[in-house]
Amino acid sequence: MSAQLAPAVRGLLSPSVLSWLDKPTLGPFIDGSWRTARSDTLIDVIDPGTGLPVTAYAASSAEDVSDAVAAARRAFDDGRWSEQDPEAREQTLRHLADLLEKDAEVVAQLEALDTGKPLAEARLDIDEAIAVLRYYAGWATKVEGTVIPAPRRFFATSTREAIGVCAAITPWNYPLPILMYKLAPALAFGNTFVAKPSEQTVLSTAYFAQLCATAGIPDGVVNLVPGAGATGAALTATQGIDKIAFTGSTRTGQAVMRAAADTLTRVSLELGGKSPQLVFSDADLDAAIDGVMGGIWTNAGQVCVAGSRLIIDRRVHDEFVAELVSRTRRLNLGHGLAPATNLGPLVSAAQRDHVVSLVDQAVAAGANVEITAELPDDRGFFVAPTVVTGARPGQSIEQEEVFGPVLTVLPFDDEDHAIQLANGTDYGLASAVWSGSAARVHRVSRRLRAGTVWANTYGVFHPTLPFGGVKASGFGRELGSAAVDHYTELKTTVIDL
Ligand code: NDP
Repeated sequence: MSAQLAPAVRGLLSPSVLSWLDKPTLGPFIDGSWRTARSDTLIDVIDPGTGLPVTAYAASSAEDVSDAVAAARRAFDDGRWSEQDPEAREQTLRHLADLLEKDAEVVAQLEALDTGKPLAEARLDIDEAIAVLRYYAGWATKVEGTVIPAPRRFFATSTREAIGVCAAITPWNYPLPILMYKLAPALAFGNTFVAKPSEQTVLSTAYFAQLCATAGIPDGVVNLVPGAGATGAALTATQGIDKIAFTGSTRTGQAVMRAAADTLTRVSLELGGKSPQLVFSDADLDAAIDGVMGGIWTNAGQVCVAGSRLIIDRRVHDEFVAELVSRTRRLNLGHGLAPATNLGPLVSAAQRDHVVSLVDQAVAAGANVEITAELPDDRGFFVAPTVVTGARPGQSIEQEEVFGPVLTVLPFDDEDHAIQLANGTDYGLASAVWSGSAARVHRVSRRLRAGTVWANTYGVFHPTLPFGGVKASGFGRELGSAAVDHYTELKTTVIDL
């Protein structure tokens, strides 16, 4: 099916990637094998760099979703995974991480082709996914219970057990790492899993599902239901899921939560953001320019923690923005697989049109827009890095998640004003403070309403660092020890002595 690949793109892919794209059976993966979907719908996988389809997959029907949840339920209830010694689970997950590492270049190329992101970024994504998997493999043998000081007549303990069937709906911006934030702790603690990747980006998740079988994860423990339009809602409506984790827009997060109320399923939500980067005049401004650029141009701004609002001391505003624009002009906009590219296209035509329309609205409302690059001459879904100045606080470009390479700049007069602007959106995912004063860093960090504050750096992720948001950015923390609470249940046992 990969015959439609543009010749120039075909030449950039390894033979293993090309032969995998020709796989005829891409679709639901249930109970350890690929299934013929019980629907006739085929969905094209589009290369965002050319706009051309590169392969297709079969969409899961509601029956396929129900089969996947039933398979995960059986696998959980008969203990084929949850009843294994924790050490055995750890070893299998480490083996899985080794297999992923062995195929890292293949998966990175699939990810770059599918998402449009530069290959160098895709390689970092796969490294992160491997690191998260290894980190939680270690947790399998580290979770302990406690003896509770109940009345002395009793011997009482509190122990942690697997929850049961966990499901995840994952987005297109970081398909494999975000899957791993959910799947790795779920599996480490003995749960079984159903994954619903974004309809835009199924390739790396599908490849990973196959690796799970190769690694010796028992059938039914990891299941995959790709699909579009109704698959996510079918999953959330299915009885038999004990926990659902969602990463995506606030609106869909609300729908997931509403559905979870009917099935009484626990939920964690990592939703959108409109993250501020506060730059004070006492900062190392040279480093801050690079940090602000990394925060917004990485993955073409399609990042939940994109530092999409630069909030800067009015006294350094003009020189900072001029230098930022000048450095941005040196970026190479192009196909994600082309070696010189450091800024790729957006994931889809719809996402590009959404971003362009928000910029057009800002222009119509009187903002100044600096577009820093020519678009490559092809049919890909490109948007040039765009810097918006002169927007009024409260305007949609300054309030709404754009999810594209668009930076809005707002000047501030003093520290209170900076914090007021920073906290002045519905979101609260991430934020950054750039300042040479440790006291100011601490003072401002305390007052920022966000799940993460970075100081004099941006976008630091690590398996040990809990991550999640407040307000419309959702709730629940992924990564670090915080995931133990999400993927285990506490059991109290009381013995009459
Ligand atoms: P959505 O938030 O709409 O998520 C799409 C996913 O959710 C698909 O897998 C879809 O499956 C599923 N879904 C849709 N409706 C429901 C429902 N009622 N119940 C359960 N699952 C459902 O994101 P989009 O991809 O459409 O992107 C829109 C915006 O979301 C972006 O512009 C960006 O602002 C934000 N976003 C934020 C991300 C983040 O990291 N926080 C990541 C990606 C996007 P199906 O197709 O089967 O319905």
